[in-house]
Amino acid sequence: MDHFDVRGGVMHAEDVPLPAIADAVGTPFYCYSAATLRRHAHVMQAALSALDGPLIAFAVKANPNIAVLKLLAREGLGADVVSEGEMRRALKAGVNRQKIVFSGVGKTDGEMRAALEAGILQLNVESEGELRRLSAIAVSLGTTADIAIRVNPDVDAGTLAKISTGKAENKFGVPLDRVEALYAEAAVMPGIRPVGIAAHIGSQLFDLAPLEAAYTKLGALVGRLRAAGLPVERVDLGGGLGIPYDPKLPLPPSPADYGAMVARVTAGWNVRLMFEPGRLIAGNAGILVSAVVAVKTGATRTFLVLDAAMNDLIRPTLYGVYHDIRAVQPRAGTMVATIVGPVCETGDMFAEDRPITPVDEGDLVALMTAGAYGATMAGTYNSRPLVPEVLVDGDRFAVIRARQTLDELLGLDRVPGWLDD
Ligand SMILES: *Cc1c(COP(=O)(O)O)cnc(C)c1O
Repeated sequence: MDHFDVRGGVMHAEDVPLPAIADAVGTPFYCYSAATLRRHAHVMQAALSALDGPLIAFAVKANPNIAVLKLLAREGLGADVVSEGEMRRALKAGVNRQKIVFSGVGKTDGEMRAALEAGILQLNVESEGELRRLSAIAVSLGTTADIAIRVNPDVDAGTLAKISTGKAENKFGVPLDRVEALYAEAAVMPGIRPVGIAAHIGSQLFDLAPLEAAYTKLGALVGRLRAAGLPVERVDLGGGLGIPYDPKLPLPPSPADYGAMVARVTAGWNVRLMFEPGRLIAGNAGILVSAVVAVKTGATRTFLVLDAAMNDLIRPTLYGVYHDIRAVQPRAGTMVATIVGPVCETGDMFAEDRPITPVDEGDLVALMTAGAYGATMAGTYNSRPLVPEVLVDGDRFAVIRARQTLDELLGLDRVPGWLDD
């Protein structure tokens, strides 16, 4: 559920008409609904309320805007970060450092040092080499790193190949059959305290079965570790729950169904459970609003050329996935259009032969469900500045990231002196 509805013929974000925001900030822009973000945090908290003190750490990579992180932190969420930049964002947003988890397959020495200096809850370690480097850094800082071993449970998450992370051939995690040895090694390494295990098998999951299969393997592993005399205090179950993008498709499992499955599978584990939802919290809470630059009649089809492009929202180009696209001020009737951006790539396409209510040049359209993996994956290809982000809260709105100016974009380049003469 979200808070983007047509009222009096005009799409609103909560109580703010989208054209009012377009007038204030120009197009394109990302627009987030605070009520939707809060609602998703509460839905997840309610779904997990049968568990004993779970930690819900928002996957920052889904939407790293500091205002968004602050809003979620105020609802009690922590942060799952995968880089020093994301960690700094979480800290700057006021996320409790004891609710920050550092994940990621390639942490640098500098990042691990920064994490230990910041005093975050734990690092999820993904390889033996990383564990050794972390041990040395912790010793040099005179501290101890609380770590979980990220397990690769070798399950097929049944999602897109590019966002599957839990198969044996994927780069993520430690193979299940090597975890016990590594955990035992960690227990005697200086500067390291193993506190548990972690898994994250993929994103946009529409089936609970692979999650249940992975968690069942983790449960057995907890038993084996304890039987070997190794303490296990925490298990991080990752994120990955899918959300609806295409209104014509069946709905994904609900957070409540997920929570019930987790409660059943983890009964008796006697650990603190941790969760890392990203898309589920932020996805439906955001849209990308764009103006139609041209309605172009091609040889075989009609194109709507938007002022937003693949560099602003890359998901359709990268994964070939669906985003619902709606006119902000819908008229009666239907047209079929191929909806594209102005970037010089044929792949710069948001939708192919899509029925949409009729739109003209200058009209606004909203690309729905763009609050996760939207602005955060944007780039500046074709020298297109990053677009602004706006947060709506009731009848208020604020720019929470300014539009990048061309001067800022061009100002990063340097021309070496030897080219000047
Ligand atoms: C990306 C990621 C998540 C979040 O995935 P969603 O599908 O957005 O819930 C959680 N944990 C880790 C380690 C990740 O890499």
